[in-house]
Amino acid sequence: MISFKNVAKKFGPSIIALEDINLEIQEGEFVFLVGPSGAGKSTLLRLLSREYLPTSGKVLVAGEDLAKIKSSQIPLYRRKIGFVFQDFKLLEDRTVFENVALSLQVRGIIDHEIDKEVEKTLKLFEIWERRNLFPRQLSGGEAQRTAIARAVIGKPKVVLADEPTGDLDPQTAWSVIQLLGEINSWGTTVVMATHNKEIVDTQKRRVVSLKEGKIIKDNKEGKYEIH
Ligand code: ADP
Repeated sequence: MISFKNVAKKFGPSIIALEDINLEIQEGEFVFLVGPSGAGKSTLLRLLSREYLPTSGKVLVAGEDLAKIKSSQIPLYRRKIGFVFQDFKLLEDRTVFENVALSLQVRGIIDHEIDKEVEKTLKLFEIWERRNLFPRQLSGGEAQRTAIARAVIGKPKVVLADEPTGDLDPQTAWSVIQLLGEINSWGTTVVMATHNKEIVDTQKRRVVSLKEGKIIKDNKEGKYEIH
């Protein structure tokens, strides 16, 4: 599903964000990316979202070399991926319903279908009651559930999450991870960068540890270890 082949990413002449990355992630896997700040986690996710191109090496998603996607085709590629961020990135002037519906509107789906699908998803994520509220009126957990609903409503093959529990209290963080686990159980590949040791250690998932731009550990049912 996801393949990094000898990937390096440099910024300018001296900053090496990633070096010699070889990583294979199978369809349907759930992978935690861990490592200290500056280890390269976000850069790795941004290579997958095609925000960045590698300086050398190749990044493939579903067999497609991301460097070969034409600029005009990037939005189309991004629709196959769901993104979840620490700061939610919801549109402040849109309601919960509208934020989630937007994901389907850009796909040209008819309004009636959109309404049905959004209702189903908001109910599933237990935010249907909040559908007419604006992001600033939501708790952190509700905002993150809205962001996850928006990320997954288009049934992406892959969900990329960058510190999605970062600013949340432990209980809310826990509900977010449950939700991502459920999405994964539908067959969606999930790659999540996190600092949350407790979550990583209890989930018994694959853990890829980065340090100074390199993979230093890749363990099935791994622990959060940074050295
Ligand atoms: P992490 O997500 O693990 O905290 P990052 O991927 O954000 O790490 O950063 C890895 C390294 O690359 C850091 O040294 C960071 O300062 C550098 N870096 C990341 N993005 C940029 C950028 N756009 N321009 C210059 N340096 C960057």
